[in-house]
Amino acid sequence: MIAFGGNAFQRKGEKGTVENYWKNARQAAKAVVEAINLGFRKIVLTHGNGPQVGVLLEWMEKGEDVAPPMSMDIAGAMTQGWLGYILVQTIHNELARHGLLGNKVKGVVAIVNRVLVDKSDPAFSNPTKYIGRYYTAEEAAKLMKEKGWEMRPDPRGGWRRVVPSPDPIDNIEKEAIKTLVENGWIVVASGGGGIPVVANDGMLESVEAVIDKDLAAEKLATALGVGILVILTDVDYVYLNYGTPQAKPIHRMTVTEAKKYLAEGHFKPGSMEPKVKAAIRFIDNGGLEARIGHLDKAADVLKGVSGTIITRD
Ligand code: ADP
Ligand code: MG
Repeated sequence: MIAFGGNAFQRKGEKGTVENYWKNARQAAKAVVEAINLGFRKIVLTHGNGPQVGVLLEWMEKGEDVAPPMSMDIAGAMTQGWLGYILVQTIHNELARHGLLGNKVKGVVAIVNRVLVDKSDPAFSNPTKYIGRYYTAEEAAKLMKEKGWEMRPDPRGGWRRVVPSPDPIDNIEKEAIKTLVENGWIVVASGGGGIPVVANDGMLESVEAVIDKDLAAEKLATALGVGILVILTDVDYVYLNYGTPQAKPIHRMTVTEAKKYLAEGHFKPGSMEPKVKAAIRFIDNGGLEARIGHLDKAADVLKGVSGTIITRD
């Protein structure tokens, strides 16, 4: 299972043009070819959607006079289609270029994928995940009244909408994904952490929330019984004392060491913390090994010569 950060598609300093998207997806496609060349035969991919969902919400807001805005869950589904399409198209072509299509791999498919969360998850009464653009305090007051949004000051400045970030419980489409993977398909699933739904009287209802993509990736990886979870982001290693002069990259740590560092607060909530948590859960749930490294060094991370490796004790 390889998880690509949302920043994999829209890099720092880029405008996020169509060309940027195709170029960045190529990097992800190269990682897939590398994985096949290293002998991996069951490959599942997932991706973040933070920047994309932000952009979509802004488009909807700006176009409110032209067409009614969609809800958060629909926006999430739209990003799965958007990034899923770009990924499958790019990976398809990269596999064809290397003569791997129809040979070692049947093809690539992207799934519109829902993830179950618990309606009594404490996150619903304490929304923490910042989404969309930044507003002034006056604009925020107006939006909270008019749209019923929950809004908070972002530590980076300005006011932003906050939504709950509940823990993923189960991947609704996991059996379909498993069938595809076991039959030689590369599957893109659980994009943006999956579309959150809650169970109500045997029915599934959509909720306005955002699931962390790293935690959702772990749920799917565990359900599929894959051996290795690889999280590709924009830092080379997980660091101790990150952002201080004592910062030190971790090359290898056991799951027990990871838990100790996590408790000591080395990993920032909302960025590195969920990645390390996902790694810990993956191994505690039977996974072999987790790796966290830089997308641009994907080949080396897959070979195990770059990035942080989290192992069993
Ligand atoms: P992604 O889109 O890949 O999920 P995130 O921004 O959520 O990316 O997480 C990656 C970021 O985590 C890095 O850019 C880095 O700034 C931050 N980070 C926080 N704590 C650490 C740490 N201990 N070691 C490395 N990076 C960290
Ligand atoms: Mg993230």
